[in-house]
Amino acid sequence: MSEPIVVPLAQVKDALKAPRPRTLPIQAPADALPASALPTDTLGRPLHDLRISVTDRCNFRCSYCMPRHIFASDHEFLPHSELLSFEEITRTASIFMQLGVRKLRLTGGEPLLRKHLEMLVAQLSGLQTIDGTTPELTLTTNGSALAKKAQALKDAGLKRVTVSLDALDDAVFRRMNDADFPVADVLRGIEAAQAAGLGPIKVNMVVQKGVNDHQIIPMARHFRGTGIELRFIEFMDVGSTNGWNMAQVLPSDEIRQLIANHWALEPIAPRQISDTAQRWAYADGQGSIGFISSVTNAFCGACNRLRLSTDGRLYSCLFATQGHDLRALLRGGADNQTIQAGIHHLWSARADRYSELRSSHQGAIERIEMSYIGG
Ligand code: SAM
Ligand code: SF4
Ligand code: SF4
Repeated sequence: MSEPIVVPLAQVKDALKAPRPRTLPIQAPADALPASALPTDTLGRPLHDLRISVTDRCNFRCSYCMPRHIFASDHEFLPHSELLSFEEITRTASIFMQLGVRKLRLTGGEPLLRKHLEMLVAQLSGLQTIDGTTPELTLTTNGSALAKKAQALKDAGLKRVTVSLDALDDAVFRRMNDADFPVADVLRGIEAAQAAGLGPIKVNMVVQKGVNDHQIIPMARHFRGTGIELRFIEFMDVGSTNGWNMAQVLPSDEIRQLIANHWALEPIAPRQISDTAQRWAYADGQGSIGFISSVTNAFCGACNRLRLSTDGRLYSCLFATQGHDLRALLRGGADNQTIQAGIHHLWSARADRYSELRSSHQGAIERIEMSYIGG
């Protein structure tokens, strides 16, 4: 568990070039889907949450996600023709609603780099879940364009946003995003999102030991009492380019202890069993914080998420090594019922629980990058 994954640079660069990682066809069983059938996977987990990556591009180069020496100026991102169109995404999402999905999260890459994203938001916000309610429509962003886009996204029907922010100190933040992007602009984006009513807002901070752990208390102090929930994410071994090393993971328990030394904390009962974060409230009523501990306290048991990559592949786990080619069905003339049956079949066969089995997977190199699959 403590050994870094060492993969030669040339091999990693080759693996990132098109064609994308191994793809499997989606097989629709010949017999039609029973009208009311909501699939559960082999571990009894329902399908609830669809994460949609709308671009594999990003204006940041966070070293834990898109290290600049790998995602350099010669990196080949997907050409526009490979991206699912807004109509294809909306059609896909509407099929997912029939299979029980209630939550849609737009992500990437940096989703706000996708032109006219608010048009997609408007289309998705018009969908209905199987209960006739509107889906919970959210977005994860680095916040760099949020000040400009928050109001348009809200007007289009976006419910709330999660903003990634790893430090308050400007120099540390600029170094971590490796794009010399100032922290003040992200903070302005968060304010704009709050003013537009895109709340409750969550802020995600990936903690890397020796890199930004000294920012934990300043971040906690800054967001206490604002109604914004700060969530600490353990540095994960996702992808094969970030040189992940267990020595750089600061376990959530240690972060919580650090914060508890400043402000008393009380545990909050989970809202849903599938919640990724364990939440704690400040005992003085100044709000709550969360911990996403996918390394030290895996939460696969209730994982009900499926990911749709920018080019229309379905991934049943963040650590999946192969995707299922939904785009071939969408562009090949398949009707909605056939696609629905194919996804039903796929989810019913799902057995993923990578984080729980992490130690036995050491050395695997064919991991998909988070910027492609969607965080
Ligand atoms: N660009 C957007 C952003 O940064 O919010 C959306 C995509 S990003 C891949 C989604 C989330 O994944 C971010 O909160 C980011 O911090 C997190 N992330 C990326 N790589 C990670 C890693 N190796 N370990 C933990 N979290 C990671
Ligand atoms: Fe870009 Fe988000 Fe990855 Fe950072 S974490 S490089 S902002 S996609
Ligand atoms: Fe879900 Fe895979 Fe993450 Fe486990 S490792 S929580 S199955 S995405």
